[in-house]
Amino acid sequence: MTEIKLYNTAVRDKVAFQPIDPEHVKMYVCGPTVYDRAHIGNARPVIVFDVLYRLLRHVYPRVTYVRNFTDVDDRINETAQKRKAAGAEGTLEELIRERSDETISWYHEDMDALGALRPDQEPRATDYIDEMKAMIEQLARDGFAYAREGHVLFRVRKYKEYGALSGRSVDDMIAGARVEVAPYKEDPMDFVLWKPSDDDLPGWDGPVVDGVSVGRGRPGWHIECSAMARALLGDGFDIHGGGNDLQFPHHENEIAQSKCAGHGFANVWMHNEMLQVEGKKMSKSLGNFFTVRDLLDQGVPGEVIRFVFLSTHYRKPMDWTEKKRVEAEATLRKWREIAQNASPVVAPDPAVIAALADDLNTPLAIAELHRIANSGDAELLVSSARPLALLLRDFEAQFWPEVDGLSEEIIEETIELRQRAKAMRDFEKADAIRDGLAAAGVKLKDTVEGVDWERDHDFDPSKLEGLL
Ligand code: AMP
Ligand code: ZN
Repeated sequence: MTEIKLYNTAVRDKVAFQPIDPEHVKMYVCGPTVYDRAHIGNARPVIVFDVLYRLLRHVYPRVTYVRNFTDVDDRINETAQKRKAAGAEGTLEELIRERSDETISWYHEDMDALGALRPDQEPRATDYIDEMKAMIEQLARDGFAYAREGHVLFRVRKYKEYGALSGRSVDDMIAGARVEVAPYKEDPMDFVLWKPSDDDLPGWDGPVVDGVSVGRGRPGWHIECSAMARALLGDGFDIHGGGNDLQFPHHENEIAQSKCAGHGFANVWMHNEMLQVEGKKMSKSLGNFFTVRDLLDQGVPGEVIRFVFLSTHYRKPMDWTEKKRVEAEATLRKWREIAQNASPVVAPDPAVIAALADDLNTPLAIAELHRIANSGDAELLVSSARPLALLLRDFEAQFWPEVDGLSEEIIEETIELRQRAKAMRDFEKADAIRDGLAAAGVKLKDTVEGVDWERDHDFDPSKLEGLL
């Protein structure tokens, strides 16, 4: 059996992965807050953990992958309130649900286009409110939580191992973080498990603390993941993932809640580093903010986006650049050219699997694919690209949408025009047409039956325009 090594943030070391039950591996990844289209940075954990999911499925008989949707959020509420104010029909709750449904379907569309498999379970926070309340009540019963002014708060100092994940003490964390001081907190470090909702906000009957309901409200963000992971994966599971930005406070809080409620939690913690754009932090004010959909709409194939992501190791900061996009596209066109009619009928090259099993070393796996491509072994290339979900048949049309139909017609007609020029002994014109086609990445081959053509890896259909 392939030995997988994973870097575990909790022990700050790369260790051999040992599932709790080798017959059934369980993984939880923090999913998106569904208030709008996913930006390009949000795609990083999706692609990273998709590669891990595929690798685990390659090695183990059964894998359950859970990724949640956070659909309790002020930004979702704001959109719904604006729609209501503009005269949209339905209650506020219905408009909120509509907004998150809409965003979830965009998320699916966009992440599908990147070749990411859907997780086995995609729970929505609003479907697990009862489980969250039960956990909050349990924490309060055992003295780890207290109710104050409609809020329920977690007593951080009661959990002695708080900070173990990131290897920092509570006092260091207070010094480094912007912890919110609030009159209803015993200690500024305490975090919210439940907060009150006024009539303009979605709310549920609150948990009961010390025999009294804390009143209508909504859960805090951290308790959502603890409750959903417990409901779907049980007490103790193998891997918990998410972006580096979630390590503190989100993941520290998840651990504190689950452990103090008497549950096991994740053994291995994995964090992807952040994505930047052209060397700068992505932000709306810098004008370098864009979504996955923006790129897809510009005609960048999802496979190209995926390739760019996989070219950087997940624990390194990654930079999205136009140059990388162009290079990725050229490589994939070349590989697809080599792989054209090959099927993934052989086993993937062991060097590719070994690279992935070494803490998802995707840049090394890509280097191995370059080696295989250079050897010209088409079947081995498609088979070995599989674990990275590259060169999939399904994405052929997405990759070369222009080759069907129109551009094919233009190429054929242009070749006919050239034949006619040759017949008229207008060699200058014939050569010009051949050069024009070559510039668009179409190579002509004279055969006994006439002229055949094939597209090059740098085929560019926009350059066909004007040839006719
Ligand atoms: P959010 O919807 O903001 O909670 O983010 C969803 C996921 O995307 C989380 O796992 C984040 O850690 C991750 N994420 C957000 N921004 C970036 C970024 N710039 N680079 C990489 N991952 C990110
Ligand atoms: Zn989470």
